[in-house]
Amino acid sequence: MAVDIAFDRYYKYDELTSLLQHYAGAYPDFTSLGSIGKSFEGRDVWVMTVTNSATGEHSDKPALYVDANIHAGEVTGSVAALYLIDHLLKGYPTDPLIKRLLDYYTFYVLPRINPDGAELYLTTPTLLRSSVRPFPDYRKSEDPPGLHIEDVDGDGKILLMRVRDDLRGTWKLDREDPRLMVERQPLDQQGPFFHVYSEGLVRNESGELEEEVKLPLAQVPTRYGLDMNRNFPSGFTPLIPGAGVYPLSEPETRNQADFVDKHSNIAGVLLYHTTGGIIFMPHKRMLEKNFDKRDLFLYEAIGQLGYEATGYPVVNSFREDFSGVFDEWCLDHKGLLAFTPELWNAESRATGKERDDVGRKLSQKEKRDIEFKLLAWNDLELGGKGFINWREFDHPQLGKVDIGGWDTKECRQNPPVSFLRGECHKMTLFALSYAAALPLACIDEIEVKRLADDLFAVDALVSNRGYLPTNITQHAVKQQAVRPDRVKLELGSGMSIVNGTSQREIGYLEGYALTQDVWGRYKAPGNQMARVSWTVRVPAGSAAQLTVRLLSERGGNSSKTVDLK
Ligand SMILES: [Zn+2]
Repeated sequence: MAVDIAFDRYYKYDELTSLLQHYAGAYPDFTSLGSIGKSFEGRDVWVMTVTNSATGEHSDKPALYVDANIHAGEVTGSVAALYLIDHLLKGYPTDPLIKRLLDYYTFYVLPRINPDGAELYLTTPTLLRSSVRPFPDYRKSEDPPGLHIEDVDGDGKILLMRVRDDLRGTWKLDREDPRLMVERQPLDQQGPFFHVYSEGLVRNESGELEEEVKLPLAQVPTRYGLDMNRNFPSGFTPLIPGAGVYPLSEPETRNQADFVDKHSNIAGVLLYHTTGGIIFMPHKRMLEKNFDKRDLFLYEAIGQLGYEATGYPVVNSFREDFSGVFDEWCLDHKGLLAFTPELWNAESRATGKERDDVGRKLSQKEKRDIEFKLLAWNDLELGGKGFINWREFDHPQLGKVDIGGWDTKECRQNPPVSFLRGECHKMTLFALSYAAALPLACIDEIEVKRLADDLFAVDALVSNRGYLPTNITQHAVKQQAVRPDRVKLELGSGMSIVNGTSQREIGYLEGYALTQDVWGRYKAPGNQMARVSWTVRVPAGSAAQLTVRLLSERGGNSSKTVDLK
């Protein structure tokens, strides 16, 4: 029974849950649906484990961790996560790459880290950053008086209000296209000028409408002041807006970190966000923190896969308030190469150009140019649905105002639904190529030679056939985040080892990525393979079978049994 799913819409929590349950029911041998715990409001945060269970336990295979939608409004990521699940399950019978990935690797896909925030976003006009838990705490009981952001005209959207004020207005109409509001410049002395506010109503302390409204209007800051993606331990500071009072203070972030910590087979991390048309790596300050050159080389190499799949440039997050974010924690504490792709960018779509403005300020002219292209794109490709034209509205408190502007939810923060599938697909290509790069520790051969009547030499060759090393990074080793690989010999009853111990640490198996640099700049000692030998006594009458077990936290666990003859 195939699961019917459309990638031209955003799913509410119940729909998401039922889709995941359908996949679990339709593909019992390839999926298991679990919960990492409850959200603040008590919703399950789902994790879909995808792997071919016939070829081994999910926990014995190297895993790619993919999550989405920690930010309430970034619902594109949820659909992209569903798309990944769908693509893997439906592609298995016919696509050799997917077959290999599900036979040898595991995907942990968490489509919605923040179900509460996403639900509020999808079912009401509210715009919010992340959690629905009011923050700071006192905000649950009181909102200060002032302009409350809300849907005043009842069209289901929160847009902008422009209010004419020729004396003090800070915005003016663009001379060519009056839909576009541009900043008033010092030489602009002749109106009309406007104030631009978020759509809203002026309320007093008790939340009632203020009867007499006078300028200036203070916009009331949102009560949803938390940003869960600033709540992680690495780089945490309560001074970053929304970070919370201490690291992992929220149930969602705590469960998320806990899941990654408990699944030591997680070897790669992708965190889906919007919007930007860009793939973030952690902040430069993090990577400059004594990172081994090899780690940077691999980080860039995986990033390059992302760029090739999506066309989105890979950059370090650059703003100072990118601190306490999850990708930093994954890198800093776990030594994992975590990426934060920012899906969808209306500007890139409208201008047909990649981002080239990261970390610099656009000039007035550049900004205006982009705005024009956006409006043209809206008119030509969206049939005018992305930009809601200004229309006069009788505001109960402010008199005549114009309400209009971009549709945030389904045009700017997330793609118009006709563009959704394309975003999902290219991000899935990145996930597949990242998974294909994960380490894969294998037992290549076991040789058994009879030395004497009751003595055997056992010789095992193991190797990493993957691109990345089994430690993933040197940083992971430094942080003691990953155990060295081990080879273990298990004997049948009566048998014994003559020399040494049954379990040998072999360090970390190199992947082939680091052996490719011919100039040797990043070249690590050739440690893709390891050979382990034992001498085993097999007295007459004892069992004649032994098992070699390879244990690699991030490269996978496997075993082989041989008969002694
Ligand atoms: Zn985000």
